[in-house]
Amino acid sequence: MARTLIAGGYLATVDALGTEHPDGHLLIEDGRIAAVGAGPAPAELAAGAEVIDARGCLVTPGLVNTHHHLYQWLTRGLAQDAILFDWLVALYPLWSRIDADLVGRGAAAGLAVLARSGCTTVADHHYVFPRGSGDHVGALVEAAALVGLRLHASRGSMDLGASDGGLPPDFAVEPTDAALEASAEAVRRYHDPSADARVRIVIAPCSPFSVTTTLLRESAALARELGVRLHTHGSETLEEAAYCAERFAMGPTDYLESVGWLADDVWTAHGVHLDARDIARYAASGTGVAHCPSSNARLAAGIAPLRALLDSDVPVGLGVDGAASNESGRLAPEIRQAVLMARLRDGAGALGTRQALRIATMGGARVLGRQDELGSMEPGKLADLAIWRVDGVEHAGLPDPVAALGLAETPPLERLLVGGRTVVEHGELVKADSRRLAADAASASLELAARA
Ligand SMILES: [Zn+2]
Repeated sequence: MARTLIAGGYLATVDALGTEHPDGHLLIEDGRIAAVGAGPAPAELAAGAEVIDARGCLVTPGLVNTHHHLYQWLTRGLAQDAILFDWLVALYPLWSRIDADLVGRGAAAGLAVLARSGCTTVADHHYVFPRGSGDHVGALVEAAALVGLRLHASRGSMDLGASDGGLPPDFAVEPTDAALEASAEAVRRYHDPSADARVRIVIAPCSPFSVTTTLLRESAALARELGVRLHTHGSETLEEAAYCAERFAMGPTDYLESVGWLADDVWTAHGVHLDARDIARYAASGTGVAHCPSSNARLAAGIAPLRALLDSDVPVGLGVDGAASNESGRLAPEIRQAVLMARLRDGAGALGTRQALRIATMGGARVLGRQDELGSMEPGKLADLAIWRVDGVEHAGLPDPVAALGLAETPPLERLLVGGRTVVEHGELVKADSRRLAADAASASLELAARA
């Protein structure tokens, strides 16, 4: 039996009580957490284990990214000053020339950056599928295996082109039936329902302004038949609200409710413009939210009502969003970003560093339906862990290591473990060569640009 002991670190377990051990130990057996406690490990636990010296480090659960578009790694830095709708219109032509090979190369780079920022589980939302362009979901699954992260790959879709009143150009959308059939095929081929799954599939029509009502309804029925979760964008911008008012004579939350999309197997990205009535319905139905503060700032979408969402016990996770609207692509800095933006919106103390860490870990696990397996450091859970060095010049003397993560510069990542296996060590990927991934992504970006 493979046994690893993490010894001497500051453990922030993110269990229900928020237990922290300033000088603790954590034992991993066969990919799962076997014991967590204060002080040195009892001799019988430590016997025969490989020891990871975590002195000078903060140990947290691995971070969970609940919203991303990994292919966008290839289209960063474009439409730099645009709001969402103008940004989308500028980028659709480029995105609609993508293929599975380019998706895989962009995704591998995006995943590498996520891993190096403490992320162990990634929910990707992929919704651009040019006809005959290969197996995009397969390319994403392969890239996640290469880097070593868990993937919840959304088979997204768009079927409402501009000629039918949608935002995307007609050439960027799929026929409704083709999108549904491909979604079912992705589930059949790649979805793993087991507790320690590395890959799960999600069905994810893109947004109210890019998919038909039929596709939303049918996707919900299909996902429930197949036992997978649902994801989409919701209440991101005022323009989206105006679109829904004009086309459906209701707001985005009413619209989602009308098509069976407020439920505990659904999470939406953003939730920036949710009012008190919307929040109450998210809470009552158990619908989750992926909070993406940097992307919301980049596109000037607004600041999501985090305090109100948490007060209502809406499941909330943290998201990077696609790198075309968050060129950083790093997850850990979103913890600090969430703290700062919640306070700009709702005042001092609107979000504490420990609450933000909880959103980034347990919150994300709950949003993805994996709260029993991921998100906290408790015996029986999967050993997905991030070990942050907090004794360097940026953090030494800062007495609260959780504040080092939530208020200070993101600490260097000493080690990242997924299922007990090391994925990052001393800030560098272990399984893949990040220089090679960088070169692949750079050439893929150029290839895509040349196709436009
Ligand atoms: Zn998004």
